Amino acid sequence: MLCTKGFLLNPKIKNMPAADYLVTIGLEVHCQIRTATKMFCSCRAGFGYDPNTNVCPTCLGMPGALPVLNEYAIGRTILAGLLLGCSIPPISKWDRKNYFYPDMPKNYQTSQLDLPLCIGGSVPLYEWNFPAGVAAPQTEAGVVRRVRLDHIHLEEDAAKLTHFAGYSLVDYNRGGTPLMEIVSAPDLHTPDEAYAYLKSLQQIMVCAGISNADMEKGEMRCDVNVSLRPKGQEELGEKIEMKNINSMSAVRRALIYEIRRQAEELDAGIRQEQSTRRWDDALGESIVMRTKENAHDYRYHTCPDLIPIHTDPLVQKVRQEIPELPDARRNRLITEVGLPAADATTLVGDADLYDFFRQTVDAGAPARRAANWVINTLTAVLTEKGSTTVGCPLTPRHLAGIIDIVEQGIVSTNQAREVLDLIWEQPELEAPAAADKLGFKKTDAGALEAQVDAVLAENSDIVDLVRAGNTKLINALTGKVMKESNPKPNPKLVTQIITSRLGLS
Ligand code: ZN
Ligand code: MN
Repeated sequence: MLCTKGFLLNPKIKNMPAADYLVTIGLEVHCQIRTATKMFCSCRAGFGYDPNTNVCPTCLGMPGALPVLNEYAIGRTILAGLLLGCSIPPISKWDRKNYFYPDMPKNYQTSQLDLPLCIGGSVPLYEWNFPAGVAAPQTEAGVVRRVRLDHIHLEEDAAKLTHFAGYSLVDYNRGGTPLMEIVSAPDLHTPDEAYAYLKSLQQIMVCAGISNADMEKGEMRCDVNVSLRPKGQEELGEKIEMKNINSMSAVRRALIYEIRRQAEELDAGIRQEQSTRRWDDALGESIVMRTKENAHDYRYHTCPDLIPIHTDPLVQKVRQEIPELPDARRNRLITEVGLPAADATTLVGDADLYDFFRQTVDAGAPARRAANWVINTLTAVLTEKGSTTVGCPLTPRHLAGIIDIVEQGIVSTNQAREVLDLIWEQPELEAPAAADKLGFKKTDAGALEAQVDAVLAENSDIVDLVRAGNTKLINALTGKVMKESNPKPNPKLVTQIITSRLGLS
């Protein structure tokens, strides 16, 4: 549904009026860590299981059940911190954030308040992650600027509530999933920057294998804080928070609306009060929920069940496995592999596609050709067949095989597409066998030339027209050779032989 009440379609509202105000935006991003098990118990973590099947006394908050730390999740959070240039304090501890709600059966969330795992650091805003149609500043290395972070802490996710008319259902499978909270400094100033921040952060998490960060699946969620103050005023304005916005474009729309709303009210002399509002994306407006909510409302206290962590051994270990960042990957694809910038950006923006590309290269395909096939053909085939790189019958090894038989001149590019379709149906076939089954064979040059000569002799009328300048008719001659030949030769090769025989090349 379009936002009929939002200013995007409201003719009365022209431009953002914020010229007289300084806009300050801070984002709190929750990101589920890609782990096999939960944060404080050995239950399976993950999406898509039957409700309430991955649960135990610990994650159901049964009296007396004790937590056991997930070392891997702590390591991933430290890895995220090292990637983003955070400092890792030598000691980190756990705190209870108390609140009563059916999604949290213990009535507190185990989180971190004053000694989080990562402090400071920053997130690069990549120029290719600004919204479509917005001209991002062009840069040498792709980083427009770095947005400062306050900290990153680790906590557990709450269960998932689904609301129906008159009742709600709760699924505790999600409860206890390791969840990073990445808190930015109030260092963003426009809705476009907020969008680029989220997209860049998501790419870094996916690229490093720390999180799948799929916002549609709730693996990444965003709380937005925004305040306005008159130019020249030092002190920040009253901040408005909008929680759990579930897409990047919705974050951008919410901010555009909210900045305008606050500016209009400030213009009219209405003071803002610190509050939480709900962004209704369908309606295109925010609605006030509650005012004044501070950390002390949660009565945080140190968790008596978990001792503080000495981070040093994990930091030493994780330092050995710091992966490539998206900007480094993109630059490498451009300079070392020789890909056009647009292709490199596509591969950096889609981790599954990148993996398929990398594995196709590992299986022996030349990198440029592999990138071309993956970005153009593979994505088109996947869309056509309603499939994804993960779980489609075509493997990178198959694709490398297909690229190879094209290189060898056994099949043309069009024929290769037929080979691909056959492999899709019969994945047990390797590319050469599939080509063989379709009657595509490497052409015997002598036999093919003889075939061409025979066709030229039989069609002297067409040959005369071609010689007279009607070169379009070469296609007709090629078609005739193709029809007469078995196995099917590469049509490009046939055309080449015809043109050279007629002295046209
Ligand atoms: Zn459990
Ligand atoms: Mn949180």
